[in-house]
Amino acid sequence: MVVIVDTIANPLRPRHPEKVNRPDSASPPKPDWIRVRAPNTRGYADTRNIVRANGLHTVCEEAGCPNIGECWDKKHATFMIMGDTCTRACAFCNVKTGLPNALDVAEPQNVAEAVAKLGLAHVVITSVDRDDLADGGAQHFAETIRAIRAACPSTTIEILTPDFLRKEGALEIVVAAKPDVFNHNLETVPSRYLTVRPGARYFHSIRLLQRVKELDPTIFTKSGIMVGLGEERHEVLQVMDDLRSAEVDFLTIGQYLQPTRKHHAVMRYVPPDEFSSYEKVAYTKGFLMVSASPLTRSSHHAGEDFARLKAARAANAR
Ligand code: SF4
Repeated sequence: MVVIVDTIANPLRPRHPEKVNRPDSASPPKPDWIRVRAPNTRGYADTRNIVRANGLHTVCEEAGCPNIGECWDKKHATFMIMGDTCTRACAFCNVKTGLPNALDVAEPQNVAEAVAKLGLAHVVITSVDRDDLADGGAQHFAETIRAIRAACPSTTIEILTPDFLRKEGALEIVVAAKPDVFNHNLETVPSRYLTVRPGARYFHSIRLLQRVKELDPTIFTKSGIMVGLGEERHEVLQVMDDLRSAEVDFLTIGQYLQPTRKHHAVMRYVPPDEFSSYEKVAYTKGFLMVSASPLTRSSHHAGEDFARLKAARAANAR
């Protein structure tokens, strides 16, 4: 496991100190099919104001998500709880790394208030990794879910969690709070873990998703990977099989984009027709829902997708 410890308060401290001495890695130029709208609409500004007023962090900003213009215009923001500093150091991720601050006990309530102000029918909550906490932040996740339920009873809740590696009992705490969708991303194929996601373990993540279903089969489970990190097609198909063995309902596949030259290079831009092919294969393997496209992200269109997910489960039950 990689845990970054930095106790020196320094405004000039780099965002990713562990990557500073890495050689630059260049990605190929972006193809035409990776096009996004500039974030400059009224809806975008309103969303940003609500996020700021409640002192919250979003993965939309911290991860440099390409869909932020589209999502925030529709007031869809994915809140990132437990601070803006992550204790892991994944090679693909733009979230700041280091030793995080203590948890903000007011955060669950602040998130709930922001959800109410934005009028969200469906909200996605994610977090940084908190390997420094005894429960990995499970209790904080559960409190956030409960605060949203109390403030916005009709809002459906999707969580995108860390892996809670070596945090015994953590998963059970989160599942007991009954989110509607439990998402945990595998991020890449097992052969790329050591390079891309060195602090994580592929089969632990698969088992985490499987365990959610064992604990509460009513909760939808979801996972996703990025492509363009050097994986082979047959490895992506194997990941699909592994996820179906864990009874995961919903698969997302999107193109990896390099946040800075110190991050993992884009090895390849996967063309849209290959995404369509992955989507077709995934449906034949039994997923209730699949979203595979260059700009697919776990929380992109999550509200609409949740409605389709429910409909697919109902149709299957008939
Ligand atoms: S896709 Fe998700 S992370 Fe990206 S802007 Fe939309 S809500 Fe935020």
